[in-house]
Parts: sequence; structure tokens; C-alpha cells
Amino acid sequence: MKISGEKIVVAGLGKTGMSVALFLKRRGAQVTVTDSSADKELADRADTLGKMGIKVELGSHNPDTFENAGLIVLSPGVPHTIEPVMRAVERGVPVIGEIELASKFIKKPIVAISGTNGKTTVTTLAGKMLEESGLNVFVGGNIGNPLIDYVDSTKRAEIIVAEISSFQLDTIDTFRPGISVLLNITEDHLDRYADFNAYVKSKGRIFENQEGSDICIFNASDKHIRSMVGNIRCRKIPFSSEEHLKGHKEYAKILNDRIDFNIEKSLAGSDLTLSGNFSLYFSEIGIPGRHNIENVAAAALASLAAGGNAAGIRSALKKFSGLPHRIEHVAVIKGTEYYNDSKATTVDSVAKALEAFSRPVILIMGGRNKGSNFSILKNTVMKHVKKLIVLGEAREEIKASLEDIVETVSAESMEDSVNLAHGSAEPGDVVLLSPACSSFDMFTSYSHRGEIFRRAVETLKRREVNVDGLE
Ligand code: ADP
Repeated sequence: MKISGEKIVVAGLGKTGMSVALFLKRRGAQVTVTDSSADKELADRADTLGKMGIKVELGSHNPDTFENAGLIVLSPGVPHTIEPVMRAVERGVPVIGEIELASKFIKKPIVAISGTNGKTTVTTLAGKMLEESGLNVFVGGNIGNPLIDYVDSTKRAEIIVAEISSFQLDTIDTFRPGISVLLNITEDHLDRYADFNAYVKSKGRIFENQEGSDICIFNASDKHIRSMVGNIRCRKIPFSSEEHLKGHKEYAKILNDRIDFNIEKSLAGSDLTLSGNFSLYFSEIGIPGRHNIENVAAAALASLAAGGNAAGIRSALKKFSGLPHRIEHVAVIKGTEYYNDSKATTVDSVAKALEAFSRPVILIMGGRNKGSNFSILKNTVMKHVKKLIVLGEAREEIKASLEDIVETVSAESMEDSVNLAHGSAEPGDVVLLSPACSSFDMFTSYSHRGEIFRRAVETLKRREVNVDGLE
């Protein structure tokens, strides 16, 4: 790929855009970075880049900049459907994303992990399983560690594990993971895709350049994924309950109390007929919910295929107690457990969190709707939720969808939500923040939202302890 001397436009000055711009500059390109925002953080980054001879345009995208480029590299946050990009494409300017760019410089096998939910959990777990198996691993991609950073780093990995979002898949061309993992496809980002089919298609692109010798690991319980894998070229290894595994010799079979693995050889061709045939019991898995059983099945299959072993998988599982903001235990106050699931920005992730509890749940939902239909949650809410507290921009919409089946109250702030939940909580209940929405109406990110929830719970706990102290 020719970079030196080329006029390359990088769209988006987030962490990834910054890394891409520096990477291209080091290789002698004439780089211009553009971002439609001009906030303080971006202005600081622009300063740094300016000093290195990289031109930066902030505050809007200039169509001429795009049309005069020899190549456009999009950051994951910039849709490939924005006007200046579409116009440049019409004029024949090639457009790729950071994953495509990075993959052209990476010779080691890549394990690419995508799906609506569970990507970060599975990427983290697979990375840890491979490390515990004694391999040198680079974990990156959408997880917050741009893949392009690996290319010029001094670290030499034997295997790359990459979390890949649908936005990143929208801008691939030749990207060919040795091992692809597709976890699930449920409603998400319908504010950015024309419809659900367009979103499903985008996810399916993870397989598009794979060849017969490559491996694809997929959730055979998911009907959208099942229907797409029929036509793809690669070694197919499903994970699922028994009914969807018929005809497959290699699989992870999810039973009532365990996962049975059966995989015959690794991507590199090592014989696994003995070592790839074992069971993991649910009691060995320290993260809650059926969805995490699926996540473990996917991560372990990916690890085995990439050269990991059962001992490494077990050791990683033993040390892994889950990630922050994903059904994360925060506190116990007067017998009620408080959980932070701020990363649940889709209705399916909320359903999975509710199903993980057998006790009554007081649920805090709300934020900015990403195009979800909240009534999909009706049955699960009916079964698990004793009170619903709604917050943020989408609160009226959520209320209208669910108030028929559960007592629903509106809150003004996260502190208010926590106090309202506490007012209705009895010993044995669960208070769960699981928003089904993005955080950008009231917070800077899902982690900011989760931290504010945690602080509100901690304040409540101190208050309760003080009250008890006085009694
Ligand atoms: P992603 O990176 O795809 O957003 P995370 O691992 O960060 O996935 O989890 C995001 C949210 O989805 C959390 O609320 C988590 O509990 C939930 N989740 C994790 N795995 C799954 C799954 N397999 N199916 C549905 N929800 C899941």
C-alpha cells in the first residue's frame, strides 16, 4: 500500500484518528485531519498534530478536503454515509477505516470479535485465555486500543485479538481475520442504519474475505447468524445448545451444567483431537447470566483455535470476575444488592441482565434512545421487575411502552433514581441500572454514567450507615 507522498484525509480526531494521523505521517503521507466538532480536547490534539506538520480542520467537514484526497481513512465514530464522504466516493476517492489500514500491515493471525453485545467481554476473556496459555497477545480494536498502534509498537505478538464494531466493518475492503467470532445480532444503532437488515448485513461483513482454511466461530442459536453462515467459506465452528449443532463435528455445546468443547485442530494446524475435547462446568464461570455462558463458549473456542489450551482457559476464568459497568456489583444496602450495568445500551443486554437475577429487580432505565423499541422488553420486565424508574431523554417513551405492566416512575437525575429505588427496596431485592439507551443526553459516556450511579449508591450507603449509627 503506497502511503509516502499521498494526500490522505483522516476523518475524526478521537483516539483512533490521532493514532492513524501519526502513523501516516511517520510514513511520509501529506495528512489532513478533519472533525466536525471543535471542543477543547480536540483543539489540544490539533495543537499537537499541528506542531508535527499535520493539517487539522475542526468545526465542520470541508467537502473540498474530502474530494481532493487520494485516500480517506474514517475513524469508527464517523459514519461512511455522511455527505462529504459520499460525494468523495462518487468521485472515486477510496474510503477505508482504521481496521482495514492496520490489517494491511499486520502479518500475524487476527482473531476478530463482533456482535451486538458481549464484544468487550469476549475480547478481554479471549486475550486473557491466550496469555494464560503462554502466548504473546495484542488485544485491541474497538476495545479502546487502536489496532494501528500495534503496527509501530515494539511489542511483538504471536496473535492479535481485536474487538470489531459494525461501524468498523462498514469500512473494510480486504480485511481477512484468520478467526472470526460473531456473538449475536439484535436491535442496535437503528439511528445510524437504514433498517435492521442493513445492520445485520454490516455484521456479516466479518466473514466476507475469509477463505476455506480460516475459522469462523458463531452463535448457532441466533437465527440471523444461522441464516448468514450457510453461504460463507471457512471452517465453521458453532456454539449453542444441542439442537442447533446437528451436522457439526467441531463445536461448543451448551448443556444444563457445562459446556462441552470439541475442536480437532487449531488455525495453525496443530492436532487438538485430545486436548480440544473437554468440559467446562458453569461452576467454573464467575460472571453472571446465561449470556456470559455463551460469551465463555465463544472466547474459549477462539482461544483453542488460536493456539490456547484448556489449562490456560481455566486459569483465565478463575481470575476473571467481569468488567466494570457490565452487571457490576456495587454495594449491599440493608439487604438490597446494587448493580451497575451502564454499558447495557441495547434492549437485549437489559433483557440478559434481568434474566441473570432470580430476585425481584428495581430497574433504572433511560438515556438517549438509539432507535430501540422498548416494548420488546415487556415479557422479561413482567417476570423480573417490581418497579421501573425512568430517566433522561427517553423516559416518556420507555414509560409509554412499559407502564401498563409495571409501576413506573420518572426521575430527574441519577441521584434521584437511586433514592427512589432505595425508597421501594426490601431486603433481597436487586437495584439494577441497565439503561437500554446511550448516555449522551446527560453524561459524557457510559462509564461516566456508571460512575455517577456508583457515587449515588455510595452516598446513600454512607447516609444509611450514619442513620443506623444514630439509632
Ligand atoms: P459490547 O462490547 O458488545 O458492548 P460488553 O461486553 O461491553 O459488549 O457488554 C455490553 C452489555 O451487554 C453489558 O450490559 C453486558 O452485560 C451485556 N452483554 C454481554 N454479553 C452479552 C451477550 N452475549 N448477549 C447480550 N448481552 C450481553
